[in-house]
Amino acid sequence: MLSLEILQCLTSKVGFDDCGVAPAGYLEPEARFMDEWLRQGLHGNMSYLERNRSLRYDPRELVKNAQSIVVCVLTYEHSGHDYHRAIKSKLYELEALLLQQGLITPCDTQNKFCDSAPFLERAWAVKAGLGQVGKNHQLIHPTLGSYVHLGELVLKEPVEQTTVHRALSTVNCSNCSDCTLCIDACPGGALGQPQWDARKCVAYTTHKCTVCQQVCPMNKGKNHE
Ligand code: SF4
Ligand code: SF4
Repeated sequence: MLSLEILQCLTSKVGFDDCGVAPAGYLEPEARFMDEWLRQGLHGNMSYLERNRSLRYDPRELVKNAQSIVVCVLTYEHSGHDYHRAIKSKLYELEALLLQQGLITPCDTQNKFCDSAPFLERAWAVKAGLGQVGKNHQLIHPTLGSYVHLGELVLKEPVEQTTVHRALSTVNCSNCSDCTLCIDACPGGALGQPQWDARKCVAYTTHKCTVCQQVCPMNKGKNHE
């Protein structure tokens, strides 16, 4: 049977920095959390997020008979400028290795994602034990920090997990403790409420902003290029 250890070995071979896995299923309470965020209009002009919610909340709607979500992590440092391309090509390599070794069967629908489908990547990363969501609403990996991109391979096979599986909440971050550096530094005042306010986020309104990641102690010494 396919195991997390095998996946970690193969993902490392194709150049990912980490990977985790979670059983496919309906994302609860994330669905409720996102419904409420949308109801309050905090998503601003990202109206596309209002569509395809059933697909977004359950990847089995995207990939029939999906059993496992493999979440792969690639640091900014290793992804280059076109991270979609870098991640997609590594996901294809990973799938080819798994097929070659007879560990999975071919999937006849799109099962590799990187910002490319209604897919709650950050929630799946947390479920896969790859970190927690900080007060800056970014995924914070325990050793890689938040300068990471995510890609997912959805499998129709179960994956045995023999290492400790850390399923953590996506809606609060105990690692942040009393720290409020990102909230205090945010130029638009988008942080500090339970829900991130996209309408006040400079990155979503006018130009690139990574202040809430730059000030985070979890990113100390990490390369953000
Ligand atoms: S990207 Fe900038 S504006 Fe948006 S939440 Fe982070 S610090 Fe605030
Ligand atoms: S800056 Fe502080 S509060 Fe914000 S995400 Fe990082 S650790 Fe958490």
